[in-house]
Amino acid sequence: MTDLSRPVHKKTWHLAEVEALFALPLNDLLFQAQDVHRRHFDANTVQLSTLLSIKTGGCSEDCGYCSQSARHDTGVERERLMAVDEVLAAARAAKAAGATRFCMGAAWRGPKDQDLATVEGMVREVKALGMETCVTLGLLKPGQAERLKEAGLDYYNHNLDTASEFYAQVITTHTHDDRMNTLARVRQAGIHVCCGGIIGMGESRRVRAGLVMELANMDPQPESVPINMLVKVPGTPLCDSGQAGDLDPLEFVRTIAVARITMPASHVRLSAGRQTLGELGQALCFLAGANSIFYGDRLLTTGNPDADADTALFARLGLKTEPARGLDGTH
Ligand code: SF4
Repeated sequence: MTDLSRPVHKKTWHLAEVEALFALPLNDLLFQAQDVHRRHFDANTVQLSTLLSIKTGGCSEDCGYCSQSARHDTGVERERLMAVDEVLAAARAAKAAGATRFCMGAAWRGPKDQDLATVEGMVREVKALGMETCVTLGLLKPGQAERLKEAGLDYYNHNLDTASEFYAQVITTHTHDDRMNTLARVRQAGIHVCCGGIIGMGESRRVRAGLVMELANMDPQPESVPINMLVKVPGTPLCDSGQAGDLDPLEFVRTIAVARITMPASHVRLSAGRQTLGELGQALCFLAGANSIFYGDRLLTTGNPDADADTALFARLGLKTEPARGLDGTH
């Protein structure tokens, strides 16, 4: 089994190599991914992640996929930051239901210092319950990651979203470099990294390969890699413009497999978009090396297969579950 406290980085991946993996016959790609998976993990165990939205909607950013941007008319109402007591009550309930880790997401460009102080309080109190903590708060300014680490934070989620060459077609209010800077701050503060992306946004296969390459070339590689399939939310630019089109579900399976091969020791997480895949699609994703999922009724503000359906699918596939590490969502 992999020791998550020591993420590995074995080689520098070049775009042509990653594209060549994408181009393999599917059976060969899945065989290779299974082989890598079995050398690093128990092939029949899946991690479960759960997520609480501590501050929903009203975000200043213009991420073209996101239902929480104040610039998009999606029907998601702006809510205030939850109080520490409210979050603590949810964490206690999650602990009673068997969760060992509690993940909190806020829809911000990044936290204001005053809001960060509240989140620090949440992290301290949840930690005091004996749970691991993770947050996704957007871009961090210098010093903020250290404050979170000091409060006891274990994981920070910050997705690359897409390859740098396609970034400006999805988001204009911040840059790919801004995201990389936040990820560097999180690493330097000694916090584990959860970082992945979204596919199905109208990007080419080359862009998908570029995203995987950028993730795989992080040193060290992210401990958790959420791969999201775009959930088309009416009112968001990617949905309304028709840019996103319909992604072949097998292309999602290929992306999971290529992520598994290039990031052998990371938990590859099947995230947003599981409903679109259906049960057979999800089973193929597990075969391709996915070993973590989001579990529960809501994924920030988009739907997620309900917990009972997940439990039934795991039983049919003979999959065991283990507590989650890290978190994602689409922030
Ligand atoms: S993804 Fe995050 S930063 Fe972008 S609009 Fe949504 S909440 Fe804001």
